[in-house]
Amino acid sequence: MTVKQYVDHTKSLISEICRDSNRQEEKITIVGVTKYVDGPVAEQLVVEGITHLGENRLEKLRDKQEIITDESIKWHFIGSLQTRKVKDVIPHIDYLHSLDRLSLAVEIQKRATKTLPCFLQVKTSYEESKQGVHVDEVLDLVKELKDFDKISIIGLMTMAPLTENKEEIRDCFKKLRHLSQEVQGLNQSNAPCTELSMGMSGDFQIAIEEGATYLRLGSILFGQ
Ligand SMILES: *Cc1c(COP(=O)(O)O)cnc(C)c1O
Repeated sequence: MTVKQYVDHTKSLISEICRDSNRQEEKITIVGVTKYVDGPVAEQLVVEGITHLGENRLEKLRDKQEIITDESIKWHFIGSLQTRKVKDVIPHIDYLHSLDRLSLAVEIQKRATKTLPCFLQVKTSYEESKQGVHVDEVLDLVKELKDFDKISIIGLMTMAPLTENKEEIRDCFKKLRHLSQEVQGLNQSNAPCTELSMGMSGDFQIAIEEGATYLRLGSILFGQ
């Protein structure tokens, strides 16, 4: 199958899931995760109308940006970000999905020339390897960022564990949605927190059902 066919297939699945779960499709943005492919293949996503692209490493992001020069593309950084790399990364991105600690926020505040839309990455599962702020610490971190005018907490992001257990995955996504409502309840001007970045190729159906607004999709778009 071609990238076009994979994209069409994915879009029709998303439409169907939205219909079945009473979600408005316009509220859902596909972030095409291009980390598995080279620039020319990634560019085919753009041809198919995917205008949000995600990468987890700076070098790979820059490779793609050399080839994909369309000004309307929004670039998402979805990988863990080392504090010392902040100054190199932020000039090249429109969204950060992996804000997970105060020290990282301090560095962004120091280096950014304009406000960066960020998702707080939350650890909603007990998997050791998963990064993110602990569920119990999210509200405190948001409050600590109150005066950071270079950071806008537009939403929360999580990764569900790799498991066959759908209820376990659903619990993670539910937890994230409830937490986002708590953040909204703070009425903090730089933390509207209306967006939920959750759902990957293996679990996006559950994510849509639980309110995802940004799906981070990689392998399903490339047939991997
Ligand atoms: C790789 C990656 C994805 C996409 O994963 P697929 O399962 O290939 O869709 C999404 N989010 C993050 C943080 C990733 O690193």
